[in-house]
Amino acid sequence: MPRRESKDAPELLRGTLFTLRRRCGKANCRCAEGDAHESPALAYPEGGRTKTLSLTHADLDQVRAALERYERTRSALDASADAGIAELRALLRRGRS
Ligand SMILES: [Zn+2]
Repeated sequence: MPRRESKDAPELLRGTLFTLRRRCGKANCRCAEGDAHESPALAYPEGGRTKTLSLTHADLDQVRAALERYERTRSALDASADAGIAELRALLRRGRS
C-alpha cells in the first residue's frame, strides 16, 4: 500500500486513540466464540459528545503526529494566555496605584 502523502494528512487532531473491539455478527466467524475484531480508533469530542472514527494501522503514524501537534499548539497557546494574565495583572496594579 502506498504511503499517504503528508499533504493529505490533517495538520491537527484532537482526541484519544484506543482499540475498538467488535463482533461482526456472522455466526461462523471466529469472533462469535473467540476474540472480537480489533482495530485502532480515535475518540474525539464533537458538539459535547464523544464520537469515534475507526482507523487502519496505516493511518496511525499520521494521526499520532497530528494529535501531538495539537497538544504542542495548545500548550503554546496556554502559555501565551498565562503571560496575558500576568500582563493584565501588572496593568491593573499600575492603574490602582
Ligand atoms: Zn467476526
